[in-house]
Amino acid sequence: MEEVDIAIIGAGVIGLAISSALSGLDKDIIVIEKNPSFGQETSSRNSEVIHTGIYYPKNSLKSETCIRGKELLYELCSKHGIPHRKLGKLIVASGKEGASKLNNIYKNAKECGVEDLRFLEKKAARKMEPDIKGELFLFSPEAGIIDSHSLMKFFFQSAKERNVNFTFSVEAVGIKKGNPHYEITVKEPDGGTFSFRARAVINSAGLFSDRVAELVGIDCKKSHYEIHYCKGQYFRMRNPKKFSIKHLVYPPPTERDLGIHITPDMAGGLRLGPDAKYVEDIDYNVLY
Ligand SMILES: Cc1cc2nc3c(=O)[nH]c(=O)nc-3n(C[C@H](O)[C@H](O)[C@H](O)COP(=O)(O)OP(=O)(O)OC[C@H]3O[C@@H](n4cnc5c(N)ncnc54)[C@H](O)[C@@H]3O)c2cc1C
Repeated sequence: MEEVDIAIIGAGVIGLAISSALSGLDKDIIVIEKNPSFGQETSSRNSEVIHTGIYYPKNSLKSETCIRGKELLYELCSKHGIPHRKLGKLIVASGKEGASKLNNIYKNAKECGVEDLRFLEKKAARKMEPDIKGELFLFSPEAGIIDSHSLMKFFFQSAKERNVNFTFSVEAVGIKKGNPHYEITVKEPDGGTFSFRARAVINSAGLFSDRVAELVGIDCKKSHYEIHYCKGQYFRMRNPKKFSIKHLVYPPPTERDLGIHITPDMAGGLRLGPDAKYVEDIDYNVLY
C-alpha cells in the first residue's frame, strides 16, 4: 500500500495555506480535493475582507488568529504581489441601541489590543463617505480587501513548486485510524476506490469537515463539532461608479452575522451582502 507523511483533505484556502506552510518540511504531502480544482466552495464565496479582530472575545483563538493573521496576510500580499487594498472599514449606526453596540465593539477591540479603532464626528464621516447616512460612526483603518483567488493561487503554486502532490476530483470516503498510520480510502472520478496510508491527516474540508471527522469515528454531536449551515447571498451593484463608496461599510453585527455590508472589490465593483439564513443543506443557488 502506498504511503505518505501527511494527507490534507480539502483544497480551500485553509488546506492550501497549510500545504504551502508544510511544503518546506521535506515531507511527502498529498492534498485530496473532491472538486476538479481548488477553492470552489466557501473560499470563493465570501466578502474577501481582511478582518481586524475587533468583534471576537479577548483571548479567544479567533481573536488571536485574526489579529496576528491580518498582519501576516498584509505582509504576505506585499511580498508576493497578491492584489489587496487597505481601505478601512466604517461601522455605521443610529439610535441608543446602535450607540451601545458601537461602544461595545470599541471596548472589546481595546481589550483585545486593537488600538487604532476610532469614533468619527458626523462631519468627518460624511466627508469620508458622502453617500452614507447615519448618526454614529466607528472607523477601523486596518481593514482591507483581497483578491482571494490570487491568494489561493499563490498558496497552490508555492506548495506545488515544493513537491506537494495535489489530486483533484478525488473524494476522501473512509479513514481508518491505525498505529502509526491512518488508512485513507478515496473515491476516484471513475467511481473506483483506492486506499493509501498517511502518518498524519489534516481535516480542512470546510463545510464537510464534520463528515470527514465522522469518517475517523469522531462523534460530532457529542464533541460539538456538528455544523449548522447558514446561507448568505450577495448582490452586485449594476452601476458602482454612481456611488462614491471608498471604504468597507458595515452595520453593527447581529448575534448571528456581521450584517449586510457594502464591499468594494479589487475590480472596482460593489457588492451588497450577505444576508443570513439557516438551512438544512448546501445549495449555492441564489434564491431571490
Ligand atoms: C458569506 C460568507 C462571507 C465570508 N466573508 C469572509 C471575509 O470577508 N473574510 C474572511 O476572512 N472570511 C470570510 N468568510 C469565511 C471564509 O470564507 C472561510 O473561513 C474560508 O473560506 C474557509 O475555507 P476552508 O478551506 O476551510 O473551506 P472551503 O473553502 O469550503 O474548502 C474546503 C474544501 O474541502 C473539500 N472537501 C470537503 N470534503 C471533502 C472530501 N471528503 N474529500 C475531498 N475534499 C473535500 C471541498 O470540496 C472544499 O474545496 C466568509 C464566509 C461566508 C460563508
